[in-house]
Amino acid sequence: MGPRSVAVVGSTGSIGTQTLDVVARRPDEYRIVALAAGGRLAELAAQAAAVRPEIVAVGHEQLIPEIRDRLRAEGLADVAVVAGTAGLAEVSTTADVVVNGVVGFTGLSSTLAALNAGRRLALANKESLIAAGPVVQKARRTPGAELIPVDSEHAAIHQCLQAHGARPDCAPADGCRPSSVQRIQLTASGGPFRGYSTEQLASVSVEDALAHPTWSMGPKITVDSSTLMNKGLEVIEANELFGRPAGAAGHGIGLDDIEVVVHPQSIVHSMVTYRDGSTIAQLSKPDMRLPIAYALAFPDRFAEPFGAVDWSTAGRLDFEPPDRELFPCLDLAYEAGRIGGTAPAWISAANEVAVEAFLEGRLPWTDIAQVIERVMSRHDGGSGETLDEVLDADSQARKYAEMVLP
Ligand code: MG
Repeated sequence: MGPRSVAVVGSTGSIGTQTLDVVARRPDEYRIVALAAGGRLAELAAQAAAVRPEIVAVGHEQLIPEIRDRLRAEGLADVAVVAGTAGLAEVSTTADVVVNGVVGFTGLSSTLAALNAGRRLALANKESLIAAGPVVQKARRTPGAELIPVDSEHAAIHQCLQAHGARPDCAPADGCRPSSVQRIQLTASGGPFRGYSTEQLASVSVEDALAHPTWSMGPKITVDSSTLMNKGLEVIEANELFGRPAGAAGHGIGLDDIEVVVHPQSIVHSMVTYRDGSTIAQLSKPDMRLPIAYALAFPDRFAEPFGAVDWSTAGRLDFEPPDRELFPCLDLAYEAGRIGGTAPAWISAANEVAVEAFLEGRLPWTDIAQVIERVMSRHDGGSGETLDEVLDADSQARKYAEMVLP
């Protein structure tokens, strides 16, 4: 058998560049056949020169002439070039494994295309799963389709669930045994503002929010970590991935069985507690190459120890509950998850707009939660069963968020 083909969407971002690093370690086992990036064409062309893909996607039609010139300069005149949402979808059907590292709602077309084509989706773009939950659930039922999370917490849960062969996402009617999982503990570093007072939070800057204590990530998710919105969205993500199917009852875990535990060292990436009281945890250093490699190789494992802990110097591991008053985004996300339907799409969209405004210096950090709360108060109770409804919900929530911005 030849190498497994890999498509990397969002290739110039944090997850994308780390995916190229991981794949480069195993050239006999994996081959990158497709790259997609929104802009950053010089970086995209340099990546193409290194991995020699068959197809490249860019964010807009207008970028096609420039990327063609740059590819030609690298001796890659034969590489196919596509653009826009359709291009993103096209490259997401070309490979055995699609690594979706796009930031934000834009990643949805890649998520759906990969699953509908029956591919393995290594998903770092949590927003697509959160915003389009019911639509993605349907796509996951495509024969051959497989979703392996590339989010450190969810990759941890995925591993902890192997401990008992537990399948909390599966009903007895499907031939699975009832789940013995009782709770999931999602760990959070607490972000750069853990322990801050209300007064301190009122004056934090963009630079402060971007200085994450343990993880090096892109700006959007780093700000989300500082507000705990990232953790709130991850609760919804965990429920979509591992929770009981909508309408099913009697076993399996639901949103309120997923608890958030602050763990400043970011060594325990999440835990699963079984009904006999046993807790299984996954531990490693904060290094996204580990979950990326896990998603590529599962059920096998990479030979490179990307996150191995040196236990002779590991020191201590601390745990504490999150401060829900200083970080209201966490409970706003739980509430959206409980409402379900298009509420997660709304909160994700409102958050994207608010975070962008914060990064541009147009919105104080403390107002991010307020903008989101005001948008959510207008949620119309949509069900989000179809892609059109999800796209509609996304643009509606963005419109309200822009209106609410100062
Ligand atoms: Mg995470």
